[in-house]
Amino acid sequence: MSRTKRLWSLSLIALLTSIVNASRTMQQHICTEDSFKPNYISQLTALIRWREFPVRVYFMRDENYTPKRQQLAVEGFQQWVQATDKKVQFVLVEEEAEGQLLVRFDPASKAGRTDCTFYPERREIVRAEMVIGVQGDSPIDIQNVAVHEFGHALGIVGHSTRQDDVMYPRYTVGVQAHISANDLNVIKTAYCELFEGGQVLASLERTRGLPSSRDEPRKVRIVCEKPRSVSDK
Ligand SMILES: [Zn+2]
Repeated sequence: MSRTKRLWSLSLIALLTSIVNASRTMQQHICTEDSFKPNYISQLTALIRWREFPVRVYFMRDENYTPKRQQLAVEGFQQWVQATDKKVQFVLVEEEAEGQLLVRFDPASKAGRTDCTFYPERREIVRAEMVIGVQGDSPIDIQNVAVHEFGHALGIVGHSTRQDDVMYPRYTVGVQAHISANDLNVIKTAYCELFEGGQVLASLERTRGLPSSRDEPRKVRIVCEKPRSVSDK
């Protein structure tokens, strides 16, 4: 093959590659806040995400740990796995150092809170710490706190104003909370590439794929309200 011919074929390959890449980009579905409706994204402080699943969960073995409490919390977390058809996943690890999400129990409270450490530009969570209130040791209430706090740990920074949503700031004592279509749509938006074969808008828009050197991790604390009893208005 002559030198000229070789150059021609090389540039042809380059051209074809760029065309293929361009059409691939055009086919990619870009998610927006309106991609999965209804949702309450506009009411949130932020919507962030883990880079990949499964998230590694470690239950702190302190004086408040019991296998029963862990089992109930895991059942609460599992509601998200089921609701997302296993797109959201977590695994339990036996070493604290391996954990990305650390969970503790608080016998003095019936509420919960979650701290997320995340990169603001990439909107990416790197670590989360959760406290689950277990006062009274009611199975339903522990599950209610767990499913709600896991929603925060998945990246929902803020609350819904609708009582029917699991991310409403207060659950009702003794009444099983359920993930609503609203709740699910928020998580689908955060992880839209898992649900629509799309691409996440957040990181692309904000950084054009390249986080800046100033993107330092930041910690946010999400504190949830005490539950209400059925008789409350
Ligand atoms: Zn909350």
